[in-house]
Amino acid sequence: MQTRRTQYQALSLFSGGLDSILATKVIQSQNIPVLGIHFVSPFFGDPDAVKRWEKLYGVPIAIHDVGEDFVRMLLAGPTQGFGKVLNPCIDCKILMFTKARELLAHYGASFIISGTVVGQRPMSQRRDAINIVDRDAGVRDLVLSPLSALRLKPTPMEEQGLVDRSKLLGLWGRGRKAQLRMAREMGITEIPTPAGGCRLTDAEAAVRYVPVFRNHPSPAAADFHLANVGRQYWKQGLWLTIGRDQRDNKRLEGLHQDSDYHFRLADFPGPIGIGRPLPKVSWDEDRLREAAALVASFSPKAKQSLRRVDVVIGHGANKQIVSVMPDRGDKQGWAPPQWTEAQEWKQSWIRK
Ligand code: SF4
Repeated sequence: MQTRRTQYQALSLFSGGLDSILATKVIQSQNIPVLGIHFVSPFFGDPDAVKRWEKLYGVPIAIHDVGEDFVRMLLAGPTQGFGKVLNPCIDCKILMFTKARELLAHYGASFIISGTVVGQRPMSQRRDAINIVDRDAGVRDLVLSPLSALRLKPTPMEEQGLVDRSKLLGLWGRGRKAQLRMAREMGITEIPTPAGGCRLTDAEAAVRYVPVFRNHPSPAAADFHLANVGRQYWKQGLWLTIGRDQRDNKRLEGLHQDSDYHFRLADFPGPIGIGRPLPKVSWDEDRLREAAALVASFSPKAKQSLRRVDVVIGHGANKQIVSVMPDRGDKQGWAPPQWTEAQEWKQSWIRK
């Protein structure tokens, strides 16, 4: 769908979660033109789903990438702390609402719709947290939460008659029954998960990001996109990503930068490896050979050959071939990120 700049009266924070869909539909049903804003970053968002959502839910959606801002916020340390895993939900909301406010003028819209249900999430949907977000994002009087509006003070949009308050709801708490009933009544057959798939709430996914923060003084969003892919291995600040399947290999080719070391087996099918050099850490010949052996160890055919195999290492315009025995590298200190490291990192922010 087209997202022309002047046709919308409201922007809806559209995560793709059920609450964001229902909140948008409630306002659309009052004949108010709404544009969904889907924020993406390495940590959340699903840009590939947007076209399908537009058709499925009848909502025009614009994608906005907040990856770099989000990384800067995490680097500075979230002012309101983390949730259970590495999710800085209150600071995340502040960032998203700030961005949405900045986009109002761009789309000619006058207010923001949020799928917030008061008391639903422990961190970001408490009343005090909502107040902090409104204050710090500068959106007091600009945000309407249609699902919980009757439990909140009327907004200027309701007072001025732009939105009919009598058609808004007063949901509260963690229950999902009311939302599921609404979805049925609206004919929504595909019910998304409530969490919306944020990788920072998933320990297994979030653990990948911590070594990047610990070893890179100024990481970019692209570094966290790389951390999302395949198998992650680290050794004293050296970072190696290895594809698990063809899909990963394709993603790695897309994320490959000129300064990276690119590993592939010369004579066997197998994974792609990407060694990303970080500031102040140098890849010498021995480390390159170890990484090549580690990449080769994920090629079943190379392992079965029981002999040295050739691995092509590309670096910018240079290419070299090393001959190595496939080896997992654990004796040399290569290891995947550990959750204990993530906890230490999180604690270090909490102490700041
Ligand atoms: S769960 Fe993730 S996307 Fe959602 S508010 Fe928290 S940090 Fe942001």
